[in-house]
Amino acid sequence: MFDVDNIRAEFPALDRTVHGKPLVYFDTAATAQRPLAVIEATDRFYRRHNANVHRGVHTLSQEATDLYEGARRTLASFINARSEREVIFTRGTTEAINLVANSYLRSRLGPGDEILVSHMEHHANIVPWQMLRDATGASLKVIPITESGELRLDELESLLSERVKLLGLVHVSNALGTVNPVAEVCRMAARFDIPVLVDGAQALPHLAVDVQKLGCAFYCCSAHKVYGPTGIGALWAREETLEDMPPWQGGGEMISKVTFEKTTWNELPNKFEAGTPNIAGGVGFGAALEFVERVGVENAAAQEQHVLEYATERMNEIDEVRIIGTAPGKAGTISFTFGDVHPHDLGTIIDHYGVAIRTGHHCTMPLMQFFGVAATARASFGMYNTREEVDVFVDALLKARDMF
Ligand code: PMP
Repeated sequence: MFDVDNIRAEFPALDRTVHGKPLVYFDTAATAQRPLAVIEATDRFYRRHNANVHRGVHTLSQEATDLYEGARRTLASFINARSEREVIFTRGTTEAINLVANSYLRSRLGPGDEILVSHMEHHANIVPWQMLRDATGASLKVIPITESGELRLDELESLLSERVKLLGLVHVSNALGTVNPVAEVCRMAARFDIPVLVDGAQALPHLAVDVQKLGCAFYCCSAHKVYGPTGIGALWAREETLEDMPPWQGGGEMISKVTFEKTTWNELPNKFEAGTPNIAGGVGFGAALEFVERVGVENAAAQEQHVLEYATERMNEIDEVRIIGTAPGKAGTISFTFGDVHPHDLGTIIDHYGVAIRTGHHCTMPLMQFFGVAATARASFGMYNTREEVDVFVDALLKARDMF
């Protein structure tokens, strides 16, 4: 049985106060708080098992390797990959996308080719493609969205062609909460053999992700959005795809044999993991996924929806609030403007009531331009948030309003 009080007890940071008020943490889309399971797994790793992975014959090195590789297996099963060889650990979503841009797409792209992305992408799923465009003479095309923040599938239809060499799409928008119809987009793209890269940074904590069912070519994620550590994430792709891709960074770990004349590459997944990895981060990532599995992604999502519905209702009572992103079935994120009040001022004021929200462009400047705003305030929810916290947040908004 899901019990939000029990869940909250797992997250020590939720117990603290800010400016003398109990913390209301509504910034989970930026980074989630960490449960004890993750804090303790990382702590235990450093206290008992700390050693470098893969090349050691001594006990600690083998234990560290088992823990790190165990986390890879946990992630593979969490997203229903066919094998852990399909899971490459990276620093996060951003690095996973850059890996695909440089190892997969760079050599396949030339003048006249196109890359498609949607208007609601995070900069991480725009800038690496722009850099490739500028280096190769290809072009970057944008799939339009509606005023409610949904993908225009009709427009996508006419943008698809043999010229498109990759389509990049966010699964759940960090700025709007929109959940994109990834499987449908993959089916449409498949008619032209276009590989789809899915930015899953926000999706893993909110949806049951099955990479085989989605039909995408690449899936990218970050541990810290799913209650795990920062500085670790992953790229998933099919083994055949990864086998065909050259390494993108050279160094230790990714080699099989090195002479000054020639180097041969290690097997998957190590071919793409040059240098000493973020071992403790990997261990924490595995612990986070096991924790989410224990809670149940559906239970976490249901709690977020419960809070989202109430927050939307309460915020709509305030005249100054304009919610940006109203797609049906959206995830637990509310972007909004507040009359003429600058979001930074609003965020600073409500911090004094203990409420943490994010303000700014949320790394989605083109999306802000679409909605004609420079910035928004954003409240985003995790499995640990409650309706009582929404009341504190709305009271803080009303107090802020009285100040202007
Ligand atoms: N895409 C989306 C939708 C995100 O929300 C984020 C993180 N804000 C990223 C990509 C980048 O993730 P990271 O910074 O962990 O690489």
